[in-house]
Amino acid sequence: MKYVFAFEEGNKDLKDLLGGKGANLAEMTNLGLPVPPGFTITTEACRAYLHDKRLPDGLTGQIEARLTALEERIGRRLGDAADPLLVSVRSGAKFSMPGMMETVLNVGLNDESVNGLAAQGGERFAWDSYRRLIAMFGATVCEVPAEDFSHALDEAKRHKGTRNDLDLDADDLRALVGTYKKIFAKHVGRDFPQEPREQLDLAIRAVFDSWNADRAVLYRRQERIPADLGTAVNVVAMVFGNLGPDSGTGVAFTRDPGTGAPGVYGDYLANAQGEDVVAGIRNTVPLQELERLDKTSYDELLRIMTLLEEHYRDLCDIEFTIERGKLWMLQTRVGKRTAAAAFTIAAQLVDEGVIDLDEAIRRVTGAQLGQLMFPRFDLSGAPEVLTSAVGASPGAAVGRAVFTAEHAIELAGQGEAVILVRRETNPDDLGGMIAAQGILTSRGGKTSHAAVVARGMGKTCVCGADDLEVGRNEFTVHGTRVAEGDLLSIDGTTGRVYLGEVPVEPSSVVRYFEGDADLQDPLVAAVDRLMRHADTRRRLRIRSNADTGEDAARARRFGAEGIGLCRTEHMFLGDRRELVETLILADRQPERSAALDALLPLQRADFVELFHEMDGLPVTVRLIDPPLHEFLPSLTDLAVRVAVAGERGEDARHDERLLTAVSRMHEQNPMLGLRGVRLGLVIPGLFAMQVRAIAEAAVEVARAGGTARPEIMVPLVGAVQELETVRAEAEKILAEVIGDSGVEVLIGTMIEVPRAALTAGQIAEAAEFFSFGTNDLTQMGWGFSRDDVEGAFFWRYLELGIFGISPFESLDRDGVGRLVRIASEEGRAARPGLKLGVCGEHGGDPDSVHFFHEVGLDYVSCSPFRVPIARLEAGRAAV
Ligand code: PEP
Ligand code: MG
Repeated sequence: MKYVFAFEEGNKDLKDLLGGKGANLAEMTNLGLPVPPGFTITTEACRAYLHDKRLPDGLTGQIEARLTALEERIGRRLGDAADPLLVSVRSGAKFSMPGMMETVLNVGLNDESVNGLAAQGGERFAWDSYRRLIAMFGATVCEVPAEDFSHALDEAKRHKGTRNDLDLDADDLRALVGTYKKIFAKHVGRDFPQEPREQLDLAIRAVFDSWNADRAVLYRRQERIPADLGTAVNVVAMVFGNLGPDSGTGVAFTRDPGTGAPGVYGDYLANAQGEDVVAGIRNTVPLQELERLDKTSYDELLRIMTLLEEHYRDLCDIEFTIERGKLWMLQTRVGKRTAAAAFTIAAQLVDEGVIDLDEAIRRVTGAQLGQLMFPRFDLSGAPEVLTSAVGASPGAAVGRAVFTAEHAIELAGQGEAVILVRRETNPDDLGGMIAAQGILTSRGGKTSHAAVVARGMGKTCVCGADDLEVGRNEFTVHGTRVAEGDLLSIDGTTGRVYLGEVPVEPSSVVRYFEGDADLQDPLVAAVDRLMRHADTRRRLRIRSNADTGEDAARARRFGAEGIGLCRTEHMFLGDRRELVETLILADRQPERSAALDALLPLQRADFVELFHEMDGLPVTVRLIDPPLHEFLPSLTDLAVRVAVAGERGEDARHDERLLTAVSRMHEQNPMLGLRGVRLGLVIPGLFAMQVRAIAEAAVEVARAGGTARPEIMVPLVGAVQELETVRAEAEKILAEVIGDSGVEVLIGTMIEVPRAALTAGQIAEAAEFFSFGTNDLTQMGWGFSRDDVEGAFFWRYLELGIFGISPFESLDRDGVGRLVRIASEEGRAARPGLKLGVCGEHGGDPDSVHFFHEVGLDYVSCSPFRVPIARLEAGRAAV
């Protein structure tokens, strides 16, 4: 087995084997760019090592052979006392995992070779390099606390009376090496290893082991990176940015990764090694300064940046070092960027003729578009950043700090906007989370309870702000005290927390979708271009879930091609609730008929409004599906009222009758109870009234010159007989009302009970369309209540990796998805041309949209704000 590859032997497509860094170093080498020579130890070697708990056979020999070749090529030997070769050891997995494993630089230095290095580059440089090796090796290979080294460095500077490490001379640094060695020995229980090969081997093993370090495991889980990839190790001949003022190190981007604007972006630090840039020990200068400092290297860098962009056909980020005026490339990759930059750059590259529009829509995601649709903080007033943590649920929220759920509920009840601040949240905090504008916690990451619940509610959330000291009614952060009632602004996209009220500005992208476009804005122009292209590509149609004229109108502006779900039970909230209560509880037909007669004109007007807004487009009206507990008065409240009622007035008698009826209908599991079609079959006249209202509304719109295209949908069907019964009654009414008005009405069903999915062939005989209710299908497929479980235990399942993501958020392809597939195939086999759609929440989830495309549905239906996301993802699924 070949475990070690020289850079000349790899290329950019070997990321699985060589990791991202190794593959790109190989690519640059083969492009003839100035990359220091080196080699990559494969991820396969890492996996074998982690599996067998020892280095795989042959690896040591292969490393030896490569190292010898490297020594011969450079003409220096590792550990040579007179003129040593030094190497860096860097991790590099297939996906970049920042912070997982740092680099160890200057491997090969010891008490002897430091003198050899001094002879080549000077005393100061040699001792500076040696102290860096001990600190990096100590921290990353032997788990010595990094602060111990940085404290010693600070102490040395204080002693010298300076704040700049460049003021430390060779003697200071030699002394610092002595201190570092003591720190090392104290923590590790042995002296710093002097044998260069031992240093190298230990560093390689440490990189392998780092794959399973807690923070790496956590990071992978959050970013959904598979756990079994392993990391590669890159061993690279050292080049030095700390050899004097004509040396230095920097990072560069070929375009602005924040906005996408073309031009050169980056930072440069003279006389430094790479870690200094990251550590912020000294202030970097803008990359443009390099032109003044070293024009030759600057021009060369620009030339290489252009070449890399052309080669990778995308924004690249770069790490480089200049050693005594000679430029070296240490890393490149297709660079990370913000959502705005992703759209802008994709459109620019199309303009530049680098990529086509299909490629452009592949390079942006619905999730990025979603980010751009949230309101943002207007940061022009440079508000004070208190801290920066995990942006767990996007959005911009402003409110007064509160520290308990009860207080959140209380203040919100008084009309105050609040931010709930907790160390971490638990299910008892749910009420407070609902009441708050946003949630801020000091512990936990993207899958913590707070994060999961907040995302489910679409609420802004920042998690894991671990520099917050959260007390009972205040928190402190870096010396600032924030008391209950103080104003806070939290940004769930960037994870930043601001003191005070930061003004919020609406999204320019939402304004564009609303029809108020500023096409001069490069971002808006880019979104416009890519959305148009996605629309020409997608095969799925996009509808929206909407129950009001207002939602329908917005959905249409956002590009919806119809309504996929009008939940008619939503039309019965407010003052119509009482009529529904009467309907459900009445035990005599006259009472019921009176309620139905009162509801008919109200419903007709509701539907006229929807058909009007959606003129010419299909509107799926679902017959009422009210979970009883949401419509009946609370049993407890009623019981209390009856118990305390002293006199036996008319009200008390009404309450008693109500109590008897509500007790009779009380359910332990309302979501599995008398709902949907079951209710329609139990309460005579209910569905009939709705069908009549739909038909009359459609005829009214048609008579006024419009085109109504109603589709009547029956909820919660599990057996074809249920649908047949409803259908027979509906057809009679339709025939009577529609007459020769020319209105066409389809009758179909939700598929949201597993039995319906499994008997879809039978059900299709009575249905002109299916619409998958993936919310209920998930609930009943998994057997857990959608109302209760997300806050109760999902956080634990996410932590354990049982879920990668909540199955209510993204469709569980293997289980629930299989039900969708079976029902689609068997439904279409029974009735070719059967129209198929989905109207559960998954209709707007990017990953699920791709699945629905694959299964061959005709449309997805989602909330109005997700319509653009679904359009884009449907387009992406089609290319
Ligand atoms: C569903 O179950 O997916 C659905 C759309 O219906 P509801 O959410 O109203 O139960
Ligand atoms: Mg449902």
